[in-house]
Amino acid sequence: MTTQESSPVTRRRFLGISAAAGLGMLAADTAAPQNNPPLIIDAHVHLKHGDVARTEYSPETIVATMDKAGIAKSVVFAMSTSTQRSIEMAESAVKRYPDRLIPYVYALPNYERPVIKEIEQALSTRGFRGIKIHVGECTLADYVVDPVLKLAGKCGVPCLIDCGGKYDAAKRMAEKFPDTFLIIAHMGRYLCTDKKLVETFIGLAESCRNVFLDVSGVVLLDMIEEAVRRIGSSRLIWGSDGPDKKPDTVSYACAELAKIQHLSLSDKDKNNILGQTILSLLRL
Ligand SMILES: [Zn+2]
Repeated sequence: MTTQESSPVTRRRFLGISAAAGLGMLAADTAAPQNNPPLIIDAHVHLKHGDVARTEYSPETIVATMDKAGIAKSVVFAMSTSTQRSIEMAESAVKRYPDRLIPYVYALPNYERPVIKEIEQALSTRGFRGIKIHVGECTLADYVVDPVLKLAGKCGVPCLIDCGGKYDAAKRMAEKFPDTFLIIAHMGRYLCTDKKLVETFIGLAESCRNVFLDVSGVVLLDMIEEAVRRIGSSRLIWGSDGPDKKPDTVSYACAELAKIQHLSLSDKDKNNILGQTILSLLRL
């Protein structure tokens, strides 16, 4: 069976998803009930980080941190490992906490294994809801990354891409795959202090409606407010990029959360960034 034939998501269904979740009008614009406390979703949590120590966190630590920080659900994934191992790690975490954790598969080419089939199987039969791509371990050249982006579009799942500030690569991917949702990690580049670079990524989201911006690891917080003005909060997604032990996992998550809560934005915009946008995108 070819990749195309085995996909459970037809183009017609994708268009339905697009209309409901992203490309037309986000449900976040209308759906959030005002009298219920807003759901906080952490859309960027590592079972395994890409730091020097390749730090791993157990699902128990992640959920205990969420409980104390008031986070309802988290998107979890591993990097710095094979696609196969990333599936095993996320699957076992979600098996333990099916109501709290949402799995993404890590896309990384492998000399020995047909990775695209592993990713497709994870998405179509194992409950994975998105794909993580990291430029630090995987080039964003068309001949490497395009099959993954094509598959994501076909399955209607987002790709969370850390493109390390490579604007041209992000633009190429966004324009070549208008039916694929791209979540650009860190609004372009981790801990970026170059205002002009962040502005170019906001501009990319302005011109490409399939582009969403992840606000984890953003230090120029006024750029988040600018992004709300230019593209709307229904295309901005909060994540902690945790867990992080500095000073401890709970204080870290709460501090990342407070960054959004203290912005000069309406409650509706904050609720979108902190949960409604990703819920709509993942159709949860
Ligand atoms: Zn990360």
